[in-house]
Amino acid sequence: MAKPHLDGLSHWRVPEGGTLHLNDYATDARPGSTGDRTRDEARLAELSARLGELQARLYASKERALLLVLQGMDAAGKDGVVRRVFSSVSPLGVRAHAFGVPVGSETQHDFLWRIHSQAPARGEITVFNRSHYEDVIATRVRKLVPLAQVRRRHVHLRAFEELLADEGTAIIKCFLHISREEQGERLRERLREPTKRWKLQASDLSDRALWKDYRAAYEETLPATSSDTAPWYVVPADSRFSRDLMVSELLVAHLEAMDLHYPPSALPASTHIPD
Ligand code: ADP
Repeated sequence: MAKPHLDGLSHWRVPEGGTLHLNDYATDARPGSTGDRTRDEARLAELSARLGELQARLYASKERALLLVLQGMDAAGKDGVVRRVFSSVSPLGVRAHAFGVPVGSETQHDFLWRIHSQAPARGEITVFNRSHYEDVIATRVRKLVPLAQVRRRHVHLRAFEELLADEGTAIIKCFLHISREEQGERLRERLREPTKRWKLQASDLSDRALWKDYRAAYEETLPATSSDTAPWYVVPADSRFSRDLMVSELLVAHLEAMDLHYPPSALPASTHIPD
């Protein structure tokens, strides 16, 4: 398959192997921005419309699928991406799935069991709001799984994504990168705002206390699981607008690279439709 064109965004793609230093990636950067808000807004509108068109072709041709994985600290904007980036896409062809703490039979199977069943069908775009990466991040930070097993899971993650890609699914993984200050602001906003207060959990505060551990876990995990077939991107997410712009650019670039076409019609264009 052709590689996506990501001219201005390649810096944000996580290289394979080694350790990542998240400090090298500014949370308030604006990748792909022209520096002019009006032009950027026009670009976002254009990308949004293009995403709608490409998804219509993906849905019609039913040959390929797209998986968008969203990870990040609490309040990094995962829900916001789901709500805003897909506003021009038909609900027929896009699905979002949020993964919480495994429950019931999910706990009785291998960690990929519940994930695989939610992977996109051909013709579909699926967004994972949290994902199989919680099984190597949250479980690691909260010491639910021994470190040696977490590292073995990296191998399984790569093999799993290789399987999906080999069978036609393009995979884009976004780490929504916010600063600790911005997270504090957003959590305080949730507390102040009656319509958002329900979102705030005690675990958000205990996880905030583990900020450094989460960062260290991401710094090891992202390069260990970034690959040509399933690359990770660091998405600066202090600005909601820039975050949406970059995720939209990535989606459009990956869908364009699929070279999608509408299937031929079963009937000739001259077919008479009776009155
Ligand atoms: P969100 O914080 O994404 O809005 P929730 O409040 O439902 O949604 O939180 C989901 C929680 O589930 C997070 O704390 C996340 O770390 C946890 N979680 C998800 N998957 C797993 C997993 N496989 N193992 C442990 N914890 C997980």
